[in-house]
Amino acid sequence: MQYVSTRGEAPVLGFEDVILSGLARDGGLYLPETWPQLSPETIAGFAGQPYAEVATQVIKPFVGDALSDEVLGQLTRDAYAGFNHPAITPLVQTAPGEFILELFHGPTLAFKDLAMQFLGHLFAHVLEKRGQRMTIVGATSGDTGGAAIEAMRGRKGIDVFMLHPKGRVSDVQRRMMTTATDANVFNIALEGNFDDCQAILKALFNDHAFRDRTNMGGVNSINWARVMAQAVYYFVAGVALGAPYRPVSFSVPTGNFGDIFAGYVARKMGLPINQLIIATNVNDILARTFATGVYETGMVIPTSSPSMDIQVSSNFERLLFEASGRDAPRVRAYMAGLSQSGRFEIEQSAQKKLHQGFAAERVGEDEISQTIKLEHQQAGYLLDPHTAVGLAASRKTSRAGQTPMICLSTAHPAKFPDAVERMSGVKPSLPPHLSGLFDREEKMTTLPNDVSRVRDFIDKKVLPA
Ligand SMILES: *Cc1c(COP(=O)(O)O)cnc(C)c1O
Repeated sequence: MQYVSTRGEAPVLGFEDVILSGLARDGGLYLPETWPQLSPETIAGFAGQPYAEVATQVIKPFVGDALSDEVLGQLTRDAYAGFNHPAITPLVQTAPGEFILELFHGPTLAFKDLAMQFLGHLFAHVLEKRGQRMTIVGATSGDTGGAAIEAMRGRKGIDVFMLHPKGRVSDVQRRMMTTATDANVFNIALEGNFDDCQAILKALFNDHAFRDRTNMGGVNSINWARVMAQAVYYFVAGVALGAPYRPVSFSVPTGNFGDIFAGYVARKMGLPINQLIIATNVNDILARTFATGVYETGMVIPTSSPSMDIQVSSNFERLLFEASGRDAPRVRAYMAGLSQSGRFEIEQSAQKKLHQGFAAERVGEDEISQTIKLEHQQAGYLLDPHTAVGLAASRKTSRAGQTPMICLSTAHPAKFPDAVERMSGVKPSLPPHLSGLFDREEKMTTLPNDVSRVRDFIDKKVLPA
């Protein structure tokens, strides 16, 4: 399988190079040249299979000849061996036709573990084979950081530098990053918000000299492997509820658009998905874009669902590329508009395509609070604030007939204990494997919101290749 950039000016790459490079050299994001298809028989055959087995089959067409079936099978088994639920991603019913897909049974209690654990094993395998080192630089609104560090800590040949917005992540989120004492892990608390972290990350990727001397790679969802690995649970959940013989719908708490784009990928591969609901909190750039056709960044407002406090949604560029008929010059023009004036207007024909495939809903803080409280009172089920955004959004959207609605639960409530306690009256407790989290020592460096300071820091710490 070959991969092309959304901006059309970076080299076409094979699987290994695409996963090691992260952002394309023209500033775009990579996508497979064509969408592989899984037949209804293949999809039906996923019923009752272990998660790792489904993962192997869904991922295989994207890998092509880059990994043998045996190696890929081993990587997926290793990736999901450390999860704390035998189903990996269990479904829980909350109402007639309404289900929660629990994606938080990995080591850091958020859905990021599903892709990141696979990525850790994949990187280690490919780097060892090539005899290379790699510097991972990432930006996190809270959950990517912990998941990446957990997946990469102590790995030979990999250094990890993770930028988080200082003071804007929960204590649990921060400690999951900063208590990793391994010599290859560097946490940077940036004096800015998540969009600032992401802007620095992109500036470093676009500094080709830096990028080459550090052999920089990325683990944000700009990395194709993340999105690919996330398509798996759409199949697992869909098949459990009757796909491919009956369609299913999903509601997805959305920030950077990686997770929901994985749903789009599953649909492109043949999973019959009726509705894909983009659920946003008050940082509603995507809901506004769907309502007006204009993508326009605003100020980031801190909320109880911090992992979605984002105004620049990176993976939306992938969807724009698709909706505009893979018109790379058009995407370049949109992105130039965004960097020059903070906005661009989407062509009518592309807008129509977006509306055919997706709906978008914004959920306010009061609605989040109400949803958490009522769900606990009525169903005895404790939601985290991100999941509550998804559930509330699905209930606001008019439902397509009998199609089951699957709401992705992106985090465990214990990852946001203060907000959950305030809203439900119940303090969720951390699972046993994390019980010592608040006793451990923290290690991090605070840096100003300045690319050159971050670059200098990384240059000084990175081991010579
Ligand atoms: C990352 C994250 C999201 C947003 O996912 P995107 O792929 O960035 O859209 C939602 N909820 C939680 C808990 C997250 O960690």
